[in-house]
Amino acid sequence: MENISQLLRNHIRDVVDFPKPGILFKDISPILSDPILLQHSIDELIATAGENKIDKVVGIDARGFIFATPVALNLNAGFIPVRKKGKLPWQTHSIAYSLEYGENVVEIHKDAILPGENVLLIDDLLATGGTAAAAIKLIKELDAHLVAASFLIELTDLKGRDLLGDTPVNAVISY
Ligand code: AMP
Repeated sequence: MENISQLLRNHIRDVVDFPKPGILFKDISPILSDPILLQHSIDELIATAGENKIDKVVGIDARGFIFATPVALNLNAGFIPVRKKGKLPWQTHSIAYSLEYGENVVEIHKDAILPGENVLLIDDLLATGGTAAAAIKLIKELDAHLVAASFLIELTDLKGRDLLGDTPVNAVISY
């Protein structure tokens, strides 16, 4: 019987040259539209918290929100968005970074996480690691304790986890 990771992998659609020439986009829409696969993907991400008590689950704009919110509910934790520049209404910390297909600035509310709180970071995909590294800097700026960073997909050739320092990194599916 195929394992969950393989089952999920079989439902990721490769889209060539999106959103730019040279990018092979990993489209998770077939997972999201299937309730069983969606549940499996969330369960796998919940499991990455292990025995840790998580206070806040941080999700990265935008596909990270899809997974981080149900994971937060299951862990009895709060959900915190890291958003693209200009979207958060309150006082923010912000940081600029480069990603696989462009440049970006991400922000977090200054009062989103209390010092010392246990945080799980979630995004759909780890590519070059620039986005997650920026989110990690924002979390550390708030003096929180980052327990782990968990991704549905990791593109291992891009060595994104090398940018994430000593943060434990989990991926449900690796390419
Ligand atoms: P990076 O900062 O290079 O690790 O890029 C990660 C972010 O960009 C994630 O939020 C992904 O949603 C998105 N991303 C980067 N590369 C891809 C890809 N090949 N397929 C789908 N999403 C991607």
